[in-house]
Order: sequence, then C-alpha cells, then structure tokens
Amino acid sequence: MTWLRKNIETLSPYVPGFQPRDDGYIKLNTNENPYPPSPRVTDALRGIAPASLRLYPDPGSERLRDKLAAAYGFQRSNVIVGNGSDELLSMALRAFLDPGEKAVCPAPSYPLFGVLVRIQAGELEEIELDKDFKLSSKFKRAQAKIKFLASPDSPTGAVHPPEQVDEIIERTDGLVIVDEAYVDFAETDCLSLVRKYPHLLVTRTFSKSFALAGIRVGYGFASEEIISGMMKVKDSYNLNRISALAAEAALEDREYHEKIVRAVKEEREYLKNRLEEMGFHVYPSGANFLLVRPEGSRAEEIYLALLDRKILIRYFQTPLLRDCLRISVGCRREMDQLLQALKEIENSKEGRL
Ligand code: PMP
Repeated sequence: MTWLRKNIETLSPYVPGFQPRDDGYIKLNTNENPYPPSPRVTDALRGIAPASLRLYPDPGSERLRDKLAAAYGFQRSNVIVGNGSDELLSMALRAFLDPGEKAVCPAPSYPLFGVLVRIQAGELEEIELDKDFKLSSKFKRAQAKIKFLASPDSPTGAVHPPEQVDEIIERTDGLVIVDEAYVDFAETDCLSLVRKYPHLLVTRTFSKSFALAGIRVGYGFASEEIISGMMKVKDSYNLNRISALAAEAALEDREYHEKIVRAVKEEREYLKNRLEEMGFHVYPSGANFLLVRPEGSRAEEIYLALLDRKILIRYFQTPLLRDCLRISVGCRREMDQLLQALKEIENSKEGRL
C-alpha cells in the first residue's frame, strides 16, 4: 500500500548539487556567487526589529514588486516574487498545466523543468538540443501548453539569441517560460519581449548575480493575466519579511551589483583561457559557470580527483553530457587553486589511467 500519487511514486526528484556541512571545500558546483552580497544587505538585516517578526509579511510583497517594477520599467501587476525562481516555475505549472497536458523543454537543460511537469502529472516531451547546444528546429516548432527554455541555459551556458526566442514565442500557442536565472552575466536578454507577448513569463533570481542564494528570492515578469493567475495559486505568505528586505537592499545597490557581475565575467574569461591552454574544450558561456570537456574521456576521473582535494565541481551522468564537467566561476584564489589541482592531476598517475 502506498499513499503516494502514482506519478510521485515513480518520480525521480531533482537532485541539487552537494552542499557540504563542513568548511574547507572550494565550492564550484552550484553556481553561487563567490563575492558577498552588497553591504546594504548587511545594514538592512541589522536594522530588522525582532518584534516585527511576530507579524506575517505582506502577502503581496508589494514593496519589493514596486521596486522591481521601477527598476525594470514595468507595473507592479506585471511582477511576481517567490521563494527562489524555482517557486515561480512551480506556481506557473500549478496555474497553467492540467494533468495530461503537454509541456516541452530542451535536453539537456535545467532538470527541474521536467520534474515539475511530472509532479503536475503533465506529459513531458524533452527535445534534444542541436550540435553546440543550440535550440533545434523541432523544439522551435513544437506546440505545447507550456514551453520551457533557459537562457543562458544550464548546464551548457549557451545563450539563445533573443531574435530566436522571439520567433519561438510568436509560433507557440501555449505559455512560454524563459528562465533567465543567469542573464546578468550575459550580453543579451528577453525582457523586452514581455511587452510584446501576453503568453511569455520571464523568471529571474537574486541567487546568482546578487549573491543571495541563501535568502531564496526569485522574481518574474509577465502580462497581468499570467501574473494574476500565478498569484491565485501561490502560498499566502510565500516571501518572508527578512528575505524581502534583503532583496530590496540588494536591488538598490546597482553600483555594487555591476561591480560583482563584472568581476565574475572577468574570472570567467580568465578560467576559460587557462583551461583552453590546458587542452580542455570550453563551451561558450553567458553564465557564471563553464561547461568544459577534458581531453580523452576523463571527466569522471577528474571530478573524483578534485573531490579528493575538496574541490567540488559538477559531473553529469546523462549521456547527452558525457565527458563534460560544469565549473562555477569563483574568485581568483579559487580559480588558481582549481587550476593548480588540475595540473597536479594531469601530472599524477591518477591522471593517466
Ligand atoms: N534556473 C536555473 C537554470 C538554475 O540553474 C537555477 C539554479 N539551480 C535556478 C533556476 C534556481 O534559482 P533559484 O535559486 O532562484 O531558485
């Protein structure tokens, strides 16, 4: 006897990257920002009166939504916030996908898309990316109630050109969800398309470029119709007081945000150049990580040898990413320690199996 719904009984859940409990790891496996959040976040958190925590937060998170609307040129009614952008994806499925309805996503892409469709008992079609991880024409043509894509994509880092995304939205009757979790590290984005199409949801996050993965705040932009549908299914108090304050403070410090984004992009370039010198194939990335392919099918072995040295990166067992490793961009010290370890592995016996 099981009390689980059938689709949950057979579900393989999303597996997040390893979060070690002890210090001493160099963590390059979950695309966190290596720099601290804005000092204004510290000030905002210090300013919280514990007595205020007696009270529930604003169910509509209106102050943060107003600030996001002003920062990106929308109305509050076009903005939604949630407990990470993951929660926004989940709300969208609850609001827009009936059991049995079809959702499509590229493969490989963000694995949570498929997991959420399965939880909703939707029918999932995964369409393989083309060579060099570009969106295929089959994906562009596919019709579904919900079509997902991430740009920059994960784990590939590929940026899907806005003109291409525009064309996809134009052709698709269902809701298109463009996950822009990493967009601040890229040169192009799809936000202006929100003004053009009523069936587009763009999701973003404070987790990556704002260095606030720990507070779990995501935000999304869409037509009033989409936002009001999502608001109906959200938990009443889905954003807590502390996180909302931290996000507001981070958003106000544009200068600091630009500074850490620039630093991450510089380190990405540094890492890319050094890895290429060492013979790795490095895929183009508009995100704060690089997907790389070491020479000679040695991805798993390198992943394990780095793990032995307490350096965490991501190795995927899926056949579509065979022989690939994903490395989050860290600060210069972390990048140099990683590169040094890779050189040692290269020169040691374990590197010459
Ligand atoms: N989208 C993509 C493509 C991601 O890689 C991640 C990070 N796991 C997320 C969304 C989730 O971001 P958040 O922390 O805002 O839930």
